[in-house]
Amino acid sequence: MSSNIYKQQAYETLAGTVIKALEKRGMEGHYYPTGKECLEAILAMIPHNSTVAWGGSESIKEIGLLDAIKNGPYEAIDRATATSYEESRALFAKAVISDYYLMSTNAITQDGILVNIDGAGNRVACMIHGPENIIMVVGMNKMTTNTEEAIDRVHSKAAPPNVKRLNKQTPCNATGICGDCLSPDCICAHTVITRFCRQKNRIKVFLVGEDLGY
Ligand code: SF4
Repeated sequence: MSSNIYKQQAYETLAGTVIKALEKRGMEGHYYPTGKECLEAILAMIPHNSTVAWGGSESIKEIGLLDAIKNGPYEAIDRATATSYEESRALFAKAVISDYYLMSTNAITQDGILVNIDGAGNRVACMIHGPENIIMVVGMNKMTTNTEEAIDRVHSKAAPPNVKRLNKQTPCNATGICGDCLSPDCICAHTVITRFCRQKNRIKVFLVGEDLGY
């Protein structure tokens, strides 16, 4: 038996624990061993003709969800198509009242707390309030033991590749290490810890037994 099987079994066991913790926190949890299975489950959940928006996320791209929404029978709200500040604001306003909002979380603790750190804050703003449903695609690589480790994970593991991707002039881009910066390009302006969802099951967390995103 390959050692990967034991890794998968351990992921499944941990995911079961996390899903129970999410339920207590008013959130829905699911687990799929692969991104492919996760993609199928999410597409089966979103009714055709729904309005769908998303926040910056490599995870939703990696499992093929973003392409499926853009090319499928949905009304995709894509802020990247904006050609002016005004258009971007108008698309953000549509995203705020969308039926479904897709994203990942920067980290999740073993007791079901979500930790997200944003630059502009549009993604966390939508997560907190607005879209009818939040769908999160979360690789098991984003699991941490507590919120302190989660915040550290974002600064030390997620931010350095993200600033490369976004070409931001920050200390972590220059050195690979967080410099606790206040630079104009800082992608860590807002730290949001979600410990409870008052609108039951509005946030739906899809855990995946693969490494996804940063
Ligand atoms: S250096 Fe700035 S942008 Fe980079 S991780 Fe630290 S606070 Fe975030």
